[in-house]
Amino acid sequence: MKADRILLYLLLAGIVAGGLCGWLIGEAMSAWDWVGKLFLNALKMLIVPLIVSSMVMAVAELGDVRRLGRAGGMVILYYFATTAIAVLIGIVMVNLIQPGSGVILGDGEIPEVVAGKEKGIADIVLSLVSPNIIEAAARMDVLPLIVFSLFFGAILTTLGEKGRPVVRVFDGINDAILKMVRLIMWIAPLGVFALVASRLGQAGGGTGIANEVAKIGKYFVTVLIGLGIHGFVVLPLLLRLLGRRRILPYAGGMTEALSTAWSTASSSATLPITMRCAQDHNRVSRRSAMLVMPLGATINMDGTALYEAVAAIFIAQATGFPLGAGDQVIIFLTATLAAIGAAGIPEAGLVTMVIVLNAVGLPLEGIGLILTVDWFLDRFRTTVNVWGDSVGTAVLDRLYGTADEPRPLAGGSR
Ligand code: ASP
Repeated sequence: MKADRILLYLLLAGIVAGGLCGWLIGEAMSAWDWVGKLFLNALKMLIVPLIVSSMVMAVAELGDVRRLGRAGGMVILYYFATTAIAVLIGIVMVNLIQPGSGVILGDGEIPEVVAGKEKGIADIVLSLVSPNIIEAAARMDVLPLIVFSLFFGAILTTLGEKGRPVVRVFDGINDAILKMVRLIMWIAPLGVFALVASRLGQAGGGTGIANEVAKIGKYFVTVLIGLGIHGFVVLPLLLRLLGRRRILPYAGGMTEALSTAWSTASSSATLPITMRCAQDHNRVSRRSAMLVMPLGATINMDGTALYEAVAAIFIAQATGFPLGAGDQVIIFLTATLAAIGAAGIPEAGLVTMVIVLNAVGLPLEGIGLILTVDWFLDRFRTTVNVWGDSVGTAVLDRLYGTADEPRPLAGGSR
């Protein structure tokens, strides 16, 4: 059996075992927390060098700033379109199911996680550029790093001979990081076991989770149905029709990334694995993976956008807030933008949801209603986010072509 296959089975076994232990044993499993953190930290330490080297390389390999404009434009347009489809699915589902009617309201306090963190659309635009790129890296603020790397890579292509050694350094860094990912993956089964078991344990095990979910079960199910339609119907259709890929083998090739996304609830932390799976298992061109995936992990959040729309309308229904058609259009637009502004870290969507609620004048206290189950829903929406990035990479890889693919990755099973 190939090593990759063994690893995949171990990873899935880790999640199932972690789920069972956390569910059945409960609180005592929190003791495994540090093992999960160790795995998460090992992934996170690769993010900054991986993103910077990938983006610089991807742009330098395009070789011409005009081609970057075309490719970049197509990536952003595609991501916008799929995010908008996801939000639309969410709005239709929440209007059909009406999960908010009959819900008992909480204590009316603005939850601590969002209090004082109000963001507007201008903040999202401002977050594109950091005055201090080192500080952005230290805070793992990915968006300004991407902007800097794109800019830097584009300028390198104009330097001719002088730029070449610099590009070669980034090339070497990129290959080294991907090799490190392959090695770190061997602790992933234990890492995901610990992450899942300890989080489920902290939530009070099976009974604790079931009690929390039961209070707003209809909302929970509405989000899951929406995510299901987007993840199992819309994205596979795009993969087949636009990406010309066979759905099951492609999804199979991404399983390591999808299960890590579910276990970590962070698309940024999963990025190194997503990039490895796309290149090593699904033969996505190196350049597409380098350009499309870091951008996707940062701005393309179909699951988050869908959930933000459902949550906002759910809060309106529960608080008896009358929402007109115009309000729903505003929710559609702001949920799309808020998801783009959400970082790829756990429960970031909860914070950017303030944008959506403020835009239509919904009470921020409503977030208290969905707070207790948010960490659990986060896992499902993060998985859809990562699946959306993976499908997007296949589609864009085909659309803007890989004919001039420079060279295969060293050490991969391509
Ligand atoms: N946890 C999500 C992600 O990393 C973001 C969110 O919806 O909170 O993709």
